[in-house]
Amino acid sequence: MHSFEYRNGTLFCEDVDLAQLAQEVGTPTYVYSAATVLDHYRRLDAALAEVPHLICYAVKANSNIGLLSLLAGEHAGFDIVSGGELFRVRKAGGNPAQCTFAGVGKTEGEIAEALRQGILAFNVESEAELARINAVAATLGVRAPISVRVNPDVDAHTHKYVSTGKSENKFGIAFDRVLAVYAAAAQMSHIAIRGVQMHIGSQITQAGPFAEAVDKMLPLVNALKELYGIAYFSIGGGMGIIYDTSLASGASDWWETNASGGRLTLETYAAAVVPKLKPLGIKIVVEPGRFLVGNAGVLLTRLQYIKTTAAKKFAIVDAGMNDLIRPALYQSFHEIVPVVERPGSPEKVDVVGPVCESGDFFAQDRALPPLAEGDLLAVMSAGAYGATMSSNYNSRALPAEILVSGDRAATIRARQGPEDLVRGESLPQW
Ligand SMILES: *Cc1c(COP(=O)(O)O)cnc(C)c1O
Repeated sequence: MHSFEYRNGTLFCEDVDLAQLAQEVGTPTYVYSAATVLDHYRRLDAALAEVPHLICYAVKANSNIGLLSLLAGEHAGFDIVSGGELFRVRKAGGNPAQCTFAGVGKTEGEIAEALRQGILAFNVESEAELARINAVAATLGVRAPISVRVNPDVDAHTHKYVSTGKSENKFGIAFDRVLAVYAAAAQMSHIAIRGVQMHIGSQITQAGPFAEAVDKMLPLVNALKELYGIAYFSIGGGMGIIYDTSLASGASDWWETNASGGRLTLETYAAAVVPKLKPLGIKIVVEPGRFLVGNAGVLLTRLQYIKTTAAKKFAIVDAGMNDLIRPALYQSFHEIVPVVERPGSPEKVDVVGPVCESGDFFAQDRALPPLAEGDLLAVMSAGAYGATMSSNYNSRALPAEILVSGDRAATIRARQGPEDLVRGESLPQW
């Protein structure tokens, strides 16, 4: 489900009128639907009901503590990639004992802090990292819980920047090294082997790669269970969402066009992997980011100018690539809709931001109803990898973030002001 719909010609998020909200809080502004996040979390939880499981939300998709607190309230776990994310999880009331710590470059300081907070496990990405975790744990006089991240070498058929499970990617440890790494870990005085992990990429819209990766992992997982009594197998995240509803008639949140042309739902994804996982008899960890929050958010932006050139028509809006970088970075598609429905036949327009980069666009040659200065637009499906990847480039203030629940709208991040832009900077005192 997602909770953005027109009522009497105006776009609502749950029971909040987005035109009115934009009037009150200004633009650009991210707006998230709490009901959508919770619905996605509970549906995934239900789809995995047949196996013991833990859903660890991948914090990097959207790390606002207001949003994290929703999932903490559901007793979700969290998948973190930095000490900063662990800090956020704790601020939001999340349980460190349900946190897995991923990432190829964990520092000593981050490892020590994670050990002090008692996380569930480190997902180890290299032999050098394993040695370092052992050494840090020794100085603290504790045993560090670990899983090894295995690179299963499958093609996730996704954008090259978000593919992580191929042998040429920097992530994980190659299959042929894994047992040797576990054997070494078992010999280390301050390491406790807890599980095994894989993550093959992001925005994966077919079940095939997940099933293929699980199939490849099963003999290894069984062997590790025998050898070390591992307690869980994390199958990672990466479930894709619909960005372009025109490709998915009857829009579901999450889909696949499989070989027979049908669309895969969350339930059929689970059907593809759960029967394979059930006989293992151990806990299954999943680490979804985008799936939980992607379609729960929009970016509201106001049209500043219409500029017509010989070749093109540009709608220049007050949000830029610094607010939402996905189109520039991944050539991503985002639907764009007027917040107040406009009559008239669609015309092709480029929706661009004010940043001094030609890559600063949200859509090119997009058919939109005739637009005018002052119109409010919603960039859809902006809940994941939107606000978290935003920057102050061009000295633009970070946008406000609003969490909606029913008819309530809470500011979960205030819009930055000019002083925020120079905070921590100073004139040299020589
Ligand atoms: C980014 C990441 C995720 C989440 O990916 P999504 O595509 O947002 O589901 C999960 N696990 C790991 C290790 C990641 O790096």
